[in-house]
Amino acid sequence: MNYRHIYHAGNFGDVFKHILLIDIIRSLCRKEKPFAVLDTHAGAGIYDLQAPEARKKSEFVGGLAKIMGATDAPEPVARYLKIVRDFDTSETPRRNSPASLDPSEHHPDAPRCYPGSPALVAAVARKNDRLILVEKQPAVAAELRRGLKRDTRAVVHEMDGYNAVKAFVPPTEARGMVLIDPPYEQEGEYEKIYQSLEIGMRRWRQGTFCVWYPIKEPGAHEALMDRVRESRWSEACRVEIRVRPAVDVKSLVGCGLLVVNPPWGFSDTVKSVCPWLINRLAHPGSGRWSLERLS
Ligand code: SAH
Repeated sequence: MNYRHIYHAGNFGDVFKHILLIDIIRSLCRKEKPFAVLDTHAGAGIYDLQAPEARKKSEFVGGLAKIMGATDAPEPVARYLKIVRDFDTSETPRRNSPASLDPSEHHPDAPRCYPGSPALVAAVARKNDRLILVEKQPAVAAELRRGLKRDTRAVVHEMDGYNAVKAFVPPTEARGMVLIDPPYEQEGEYEKIYQSLEIGMRRWRQGTFCVWYPIKEPGAHEALMDRVRESRWSEACRVEIRVRPAVDVKSLVGCGLLVVNPPWGFSDTVKSVCPWLINRLAHPGSGRWSLERLS
């Protein structure tokens, strides 16, 4: 297992996932009572987009860089962009001083530091909210700890994300969400996701559970959707965007977010964000989005 998210940081999948994640966390902030967020596959937390790994395929060029300077973004997108920008100016670059970079390769619209899910949740959560961050790779977990500096709201656990669901759900706050965002590099990932949702829903009926997934053809994620439908959980939906034509079997054409117990107003956010996003991100003629209730 050697997946490293820095190779993909700020790509269209991150943009889509992070805009909706921020919206869900903001919804949790509507009530005063503190909440907890369990991020089962947290990653490094902060990504240096000018680092050689991020520039290898420069995936942010097809994601963040396409919307960074937008002046007509719907509110949830504008909020996301503001957090990303504020984050970039407040963080000092940690590697590769810009002087050592070839200016022709530097993307002017891309920020240097890109916040991953733990950093975004930390930016929106309040003083008494709690972040339970889980990362299996020791080096990545150490990087995550370093990036959080002394944020006392957050604890990093170096362990398996699916075991973390068993260990930490339900949280004592009884309010909050679980983000399941695995790399999908191993067989049986969808089975583990379903098992975790099943345990999660049994123990925490009111919890919000989000699963990010890649869309390839044929759709390996469809079997999970069928099982969620059959489970008849009180409320569940999936949001998907497609931004590329399928060039061959298994090529990535888009991504989706499965949300069990979405917050009030989530579908309105989706309807304002997705048409705008595919307009910006999709290859001509291949942009599509959908919102489907699974309950
Ligand atoms: N959620 C992050 C991205 C995470 S990428 C974000 O939105 O910014 C997926 C991460 O899962 C990687 O860092 C990888 O090391 C980690 N990982 C892989 N298998 C895992 C497992 N079984 N349990 C916990 N983390 C795992």
